[in-house]
Amino acid sequence: MYQLRLCLLLLVSTFFSLQAQQPKTYNSSEIYEAVQKLNVLGSVLYIAAHPDDENTRLISYMSNEVKARTAYLSLTRGDGGQNLIGPEIRELLGVIRTQELLAARRVDGGEQRFSRANDFGYSKHPDETLEIWNKNEVLADVVWAIRTFKPDIIINRFDHRSPGKTHGHHTASAMLSMEAFDLANDATKYPSQLELTKTWQPKRVFFNTSWWFYGSQEKFEKANKTNMHSFDIGVYYPSKGMSNNEVAAIASSQHLCQGFGRLSQRGSQQEYIEFLKGDPLKKNEDIFSGIDVTWNRVEGGKAIEAILKTVENNFNFKNPETHLQQLLEAYKLLQNIKDEHWKTVKTKELKTIIEACAGLYLEVSAKSPNAAPNSQVTLDMEVLNRSKANIDLVSYNLSTMNNGISKNMNLSSNQKLNFEESITIPNNSAYTTPYWLNKKSTLGMYNVKDQNLIGLPETPRAVFVDFNLLIEGTPISIKKPVVYRYSKPDKGELYRPFEIIPVVSASISDKVFIFENDEQKEIEITVKAGKNNIDGYVQMAYPQGWEVFPEKQKIEIVNKGDIQKVVFTIIPPKNQSEGLITPMVNVNGEFYTDELIEIDYAHIPFQTVLMPSESKVVRLNIEKRGNNIGYIEGAGDVVPESLRQIGYTVTTIKPEQISPENLSNFDAIVMGIRAYNIVEELKFKQKFLLDYVKEGGNLIVQYNTNRGIKVDQLAPFDLQLSRDRVTNENAAVKILEPNHPILNFPNKITDKDFEGWVQERGLYFPNKWSKEFTPLLASNDKGEGSKKGSLLVAKYGKGNYIYTGLSFFREFPAGVSGAYRIFANLLSAEKADKPSFKN
Ligand SMILES: [Zn+2]
Repeated sequence: MYQLRLCLLLLVSTFFSLQAQQPKTYNSSEIYEAVQKLNVLGSVLYIAAHPDDENTRLISYMSNEVKARTAYLSLTRGDGGQNLIGPEIRELLGVIRTQELLAARRVDGGEQRFSRANDFGYSKHPDETLEIWNKNEVLADVVWAIRTFKPDIIINRFDHRSPGKTHGHHTASAMLSMEAFDLANDATKYPSQLELTKTWQPKRVFFNTSWWFYGSQEKFEKANKTNMHSFDIGVYYPSKGMSNNEVAAIASSQHLCQGFGRLSQRGSQQEYIEFLKGDPLKKNEDIFSGIDVTWNRVEGGKAIEAILKTVENNFNFKNPETHLQQLLEAYKLLQNIKDEHWKTVKTKELKTIIEACAGLYLEVSAKSPNAAPNSQVTLDMEVLNRSKANIDLVSYNLSTMNNGISKNMNLSSNQKLNFEESITIPNNSAYTTPYWLNKKSTLGMYNVKDQNLIGLPETPRAVFVDFNLLIEGTPISIKKPVVYRYSKPDKGELYRPFEIIPVVSASISDKVFIFENDEQKEIEITVKAGKNNIDGYVQMAYPQGWEVFPEKQKIEIVNKGDIQKVVFTIIPPKNQSEGLITPMVNVNGEFYTDELIEIDYAHIPFQTVLMPSESKVVRLNIEKRGNNIGYIEGAGDVVPESLRQIGYTVTTIKPEQISPENLSNFDAIVMGIRAYNIVEELKFKQKFLLDYVKEGGNLIVQYNTNRGIKVDQLAPFDLQLSRDRVTNENAAVKILEPNHPILNFPNKITDKDFEGWVQERGLYFPNKWSKEFTPLLASNDKGEGSKKGSLLVAKYGKGNYIYTGLSFFREFPAGVSGAYRIFANLLSAEKADKPSFKN
């Protein structure tokens, strides 16, 4: 099953990879669909919390069947999740998920918006969510989304009335939507926004309910549906050769990093929305009832409609260019309407249609994928008119120059023109990087002050060209961002966005360096040139009490894109200490301290992200007993690397290698996270593992989920897993058994060891266990009862069976000292007779 799903994922990803990177062009059916949509002046805003929350069936239906302008407002970018396709986590995962949402919208025809809320991980209750997010700022952003997008209809994915039943972010998204619905039209609320936009009152807000919210299909069938409206979201689109639900499946399959590749569905299928507030609606009445969604909506729209309806009703699929005159006529009328909002929205749509009908090909490609400020880059412009229309290229404006370049050339039918321009990237150009990561974020919020950027999915491209055309006498200018076009023998033609990068960037080989004693370590720095002939030096910034040698290292790189590696020696202080190290590269008197991260997947456009280049250094006060650790892999964690960092010898044991003889070589065995959920063979090997304990071994089992355990007996004694978790990483931890050897040997564990934890305390704690187990710690989230299952120890035979849901797998990569010290104690249990070792 897993294999099958993977194949499907690959198919979907290769199919859409072409669309993710190449400039979009339109065939006749697509032009026709765009004309249909041009004639609808209604809009829908769908609101939820995360990438993948959105119901693409409904978004696709609203966009492709109702033809409404449809957007998904995802409050977060999904930084807190897991990545199934690569190593990126946190901010970088948020960048991937942002692009996956955009890829999904390219398929279902929606637009994408965000707020500044940060996905800080699982939250049990909206009260907690709204405490960690800055509620006022996120609410302001929802109001801003409503005031700028101006939806007639809002649809919430989640139920604002059921806090605690799902992820707190989910319920919070619906609660904020309900609140913003009442505030968006109130000029006294968030008045500074009104310098840039106007107030807006959406007509109605709905909740996109389903049987899931009722617990079962049967319960939902019996539910009172007086306030519900339903749509057949299985409609077939002949122009696409696909049903709406098929389009939706391809859209949601763009969420590849979450393993969302899914099978498509066809045929009639009902989707329900429940009326919440706004203008009352009768049963089976159109959800837009009372809103004119035709051109009559705007003053001066009637004349435009007369033309555009004629185009729609008599659309020439063989030769759409026959509509150019009419489209241009409508374009001219549109420029005179007073309604600025619809003028902007519809002008953009109409320009795209005109460009497509004329078969215009306008492209600006740079000769290199990126350039640093103050350096030169050559642009190739391709201008082609593939219609019989009379089109002139009057001039073009490059965003890097003040004055336009005059051309005054007629574009003969199908005669390609090429121009070359050499530009200098302005010295003050901003680097290409996600705008929301420019400033340090907090746990709950991204830090963005520029109101015009708030809500945008991406940073607007800094380098672009406006082509000023005269199409059949009508002046129209069309904007194109600069791209980089190249080919690979095994992939064909590829596109990347053109990027502005720093003169130099530097990265450190690891994110965390643990010093388990006062021995020095060597750290490798990689410096990459963003332009030719880099001549400078690197020095390190480091915390007080630490030492770094040498003070400076020379850097000389001839070619842009090349790297140079240098090694620094780091000497830790005598006592426990931690801090950050940063390479500072000096070129021509200026310091550069960022790392340039490239994200390259086929299903999304190439991304570069600039982040402060820094790593954590931790000097631990840690004692250890035993040395040889066996590790049995689960769903993947960095426990082996982390234990090696503090000097253990860690051997990965494959399931087929689990035998009594093999296990007896190890001082302790560690099970990777969710090993009992995914490793089938453990069914046959569990006996050996428990026997190993009986004979005097230490078995440390990290968390598993309570569904789908592959073994009958997880532990030597009764142990019941639950969904108990403590999501607040700062929640107080009570030491229940202060005298227990595991909390005292070889390291004395105190409250201090629970400081500086990240993301959570732990998850899937057992909630029932037999008397042989001793619970060592207790902790709980606000408003909940004490949970004692995070660390359970049982003597079994001559050894120890330890079950822990503490999130070591998250704390190790973050360099959390206490997590290392506690884990060392688990590995050292009953090893008092063994001498401490030094490696
Ligand atoms: Zn979600």
